[in-house]
Amino acid sequence: MKLELGEAFREQEARFSLRWNCEDCTRFEPATDSCAHGYPTKTHRRAGRATEALTFCKEFEAR
Ligand code: SF4
Repeated sequence: MKLELGEAFREQEARFSLRWNCEDCTRFEPATDSCAHGYPTKTHRRAGRATEALTFCKEFEAR
């Protein structure tokens, strides 16, 4: 699901401490820097926050 990462989203993300990146997902494997389901993580990672091309992963499960 594509998100509009505009100013309003960033404000709400900070206000509600939203978690939606791979690093906050139970399926993320830090040791291998990968998704346990084998999904590509590039557009869901925290490191990509500076871009406007991020997407929300429907398989995300908060830790
Ligand atoms: S399920 Fe989605 S959000 Fe979770 S680690 Fe895999 S790609 Fe990232």
